Amino acid sequence: MIRPAVLALAAALILPPLLPPFYVTLAAYVGLAAIVATGLVLLTGISGQTSFGQASFVGIAAYAAALLDGRPFTGLLAGLAAAGVVAWLLGFITARLSGHFLALCSVAWGLSFYSLFGTLPWLHGFNGIGGIAALPFAPGPRAGLAVVWAVVALGLWGAQNLLDSRSGRALRALNGARLMAESMGVDTVRLARGVFVLAALYAAAAGFLFAHVQRFISPTPFGLTASIEYLFMIILGGADRLAGALLGAVLVVVLRDALTDWVPRLTGAPGSYEAMAFSLLVIVMLHHAPRGVLSLLPQGRAAAPRPAAPPPPPPVQPIAAAGGEPVLLLDRISRRFGGLAANQDVSLAVHAGEIVALIGPNGAGKSTLFNIASGVLPPSAGSVRLFGRVLGALPARRRAALGLARTFQHVRLLQGETVRDNIALGAHLAGRAGMLRALLRLDRAEEARLRAAAEAAAARVGLADRLDTPAGDLPLGQQRIVEIARALCLTPRLLLLDEPAAGLRHLEKERLADLLRQLRASGMAVLLVEHDMGFVMRLADRVVVMDFGQTIAAGPPAQVRADPAVRDAYLGGVA
Ligand code: ADP
Ligand code: MG
Repeated sequence: MIRPAVLALAAALILPPLLPPFYVTLAAYVGLAAIVATGLVLLTGISGQTSFGQASFVGIAAYAAALLDGRPFTGLLAGLAAAGVVAWLLGFITARLSGHFLALCSVAWGLSFYSLFGTLPWLHGFNGIGGIAALPFAPGPRAGLAVVWAVVALGLWGAQNLLDSRSGRALRALNGARLMAESMGVDTVRLARGVFVLAALYAAAAGFLFAHVQRFISPTPFGLTASIEYLFMIILGGADRLAGALLGAVLVVVLRDALTDWVPRLTGAPGSYEAMAFSLLVIVMLHHAPRGVLSLLPQGRAAAPRPAAPPPPPPVQPIAAAGGEPVLLLDRISRRFGGLAANQDVSLAVHAGEIVALIGPNGAGKSTLFNIASGVLPPSAGSVRLFGRVLGALPARRRAALGLARTFQHVRLLQGETVRDNIALGAHLAGRAGMLRALLRLDRAEEARLRAAAEAAAARVGLADRLDTPAGDLPLGQQRIVEIARALCLTPRLLLLDEPAAGLRHLEKERLADLLRQLRASGMAVLLVEHDMGFVMRLADRVVVMDFGQTIAAGPPAQVRADPAVRDAYLGGVA
């Protein structure tokens, strides 16, 4: 598959000398829209934050360019800075919001900026500002077109780099998997704000070019309607792919232009029938391709060649023993959900080099205890001591940084992403490169290191030959193993596994048990919830039994198995 950035670069070289005069302007509009849409794919399609306000960022930069006419470089910097600062401030409010709230918020600021553009006296209201100079290095419309498409190519190249990076993986997780991402150490609020600013900067770059290419601006192209059109573009093209931004920009801009031209001729009547015709077409297209027109094409997933033989698993690095102090100490933890006591006075310790199994019937409160230990839920009472520190309200991502890794009872993977990318998310904290470095491709050495870590973790759990498979294509049991590999990528000292063997076949369970024994031998502390009694009894050093939110027994497997209370409450006399 040809990269969209390459297509855009080809357009920058081929279109300007070849297009008939009328189409030069149209092609420039397509390019400008594609720049905004590229930012919007990152923001909405990839990170799941819907914005109905992108046109206001275009406007802010366009007005900055118009006001600083004659000093285009200053105008560009001022436009980017103004849009960036406004986005950063808005991001403060919106980064924590999601879904409808964020969308509504963006409608509000979209409307406010539109009315500001129309009413501030020094912006000349709806008369607009004319006579803006062309770019000094691109005097004519054809040169302007070339510059626009060169910027499209640059923007797509940067976005492609970003998606292919540590931040890109984390961005994908923002879309519906924030809790998981936080557990892997991702600062999701900061990242959401970052991509919001980035999308605004893309819009601002388009605004600057718009002012100097069209050489006249007024509030109309920066209103809510325009913002909605940008959203249409990515939805029609395919919001989760950069090519979707390109295709969507072509579709929407050309279609609208054609309809404005043809509908009045066909109907022979004045009136905005073209808007209706446009909406009808959008509905028809979405009906046939709800995931964007691009999804109609056969999928060209770059199938990497499979390694002939999987590399041998790397040796397990020994972890410095933590002395006699427990790695995790839960002290009289209680947790209520309304009137329900999910945990009551539960105490539990896990030491380095020890596997502790937590068992008990469904609803006993095991997962709740995991969530409290990992910082996903605050306890109602009691304290969590991790690696010798009392944690208070330390968030999940900070606990991950201390060396706690976990899996989830209900698998939380990015289903459409490859096994490699899913596992590499666990290596997030092993890297430092931010979005800017990723955009400019200055993160390659680090990225190679993170991928190698992911591949090593995959090899260790026996997934070396599935690295390029989308995680969602694996059977559920294998998906659990992917989660374990992702957790191992964090190089944890404490591993919490919530029902890791559920859905595994007998041999796979044996392999998992072997892996856990290896990890134990390396000094890792493992706490696991499991229902398969045979598995637990063979593996665990100690077993803790919960029922109705309370600990009813604890001790070595043989002792717990013989405990009459356990037999009555849980094992039903079968063990
Ligand atoms: P287990 O993992 O042992 O099956 P859980 O910890 O998931 O048990 O659940 C313990 C009890 O707490 C159950 O009755 C469950 O319905 C309730 N519970 C768990 N999480 C929540 C929540 N977020 N809100 C309300 N009730 C919850
Ligand atoms: Mg559970």
